[in-house]
Amino acid sequence: MSLQLVFLGTGSGKPMPNRNVSSMALFREGKLFLFDCGEATQIQLTRSDLRPGALEAIFLTHFHGDHVNGLPGLIGSLTLNQRSAPLHIVGPRGLKRWFKCLHDLHILRPGFPVRLHEVTQAGGVLEEHDFHFVAHPLEHRVDVWGYALVEDERPGRFDVERARQLDIPSGPLYGQLQRGEPVVLDDGRTVEPSQVLGPARPGLKIAYCTDTIPCNSALELARDADVLVHESTYPAGDEEKAHQRGHSTAGDAARCAHKAGAKRLILTHISQKYLHLDEFLTGAREIFANTDIARDFSTFEIKRQDS
Ligand SMILES: [Zn+2]
Ligand SMILES: [Zn+2]
Repeated sequence: MSLQLVFLGTGSGKPMPNRNVSSMALFREGKLFLFDCGEATQIQLTRSDLRPGALEAIFLTHFHGDHVNGLPGLIGSLTLNQRSAPLHIVGPRGLKRWFKCLHDLHILRPGFPVRLHEVTQAGGVLEEHDFHFVAHPLEHRVDVWGYALVEDERPGRFDVERARQLDIPSGPLYGQLQRGEPVVLDDGRTVEPSQVLGPARPGLKIAYCTDTIPCNSALELARDADVLVHESTYPAGDEEKAHQRGHSTAGDAARCAHKAGAKRLILTHISQKYLHLDEFLTGAREIFANTDIARDFSTFEIKRQDS
């Protein structure tokens, strides 16, 4: 069982033929989630192997055009595709006003329920069956939120040898114990899951952190993440310029990953001024070795430990 990250746009500012503006898809067990939806995200989606019909929710970090201009078009196309399932959209304050304007001007008339969630405080924003999403405020030139997917802990491994020693008949009782339910045997004994299960296994945490200058809240978002996706508008060494403009460098992203105890860093949101990305990687890896840089359509398979 794994989770997939597919980068649909990895540039900042304006779309370019080789690097579109921000959007990252997260695909997990048949469900698709988008983080940001820059212009032409729907075209990028059609060029990928992802199915727009699997979309469950879209998370918008902030209302800069390079993060949201693709949303009305994508929703229009989902309507043309006869979508009927609800779609959740999570974003900063103003999301409802924006949709009302689009609706009033007849720009957008979705043919399916759109559930809008305005984020006003740090914490949980959307619950799924065995994972949830949290939001943390970041520091940029406007109201901005970073998001993380956080999976629930999974039960420990089932110890078949131990189950045999306890004379538990194999079959449905094994399944019940694996799901964390106690079972009563024919001889009247009760077996607790803890007698046959190893220690609980942590779920994955995937954090998406853009646009921001370095800040404590970004560190909180990134804390112990298995994967931190962090903006890196400029290469390491350009901190002064980056911070003045409300952005981070590759060095800032690496420091955030290091301080937060993240296991892996992926850089995105690269200024379109830079054609060669080696400089970004080198500068970040000096601080945090397990760093990659995303290009459009880069795909990362994220595996759970001991799954
Ligand atoms: Zn941006
Ligand atoms: Zn921005």
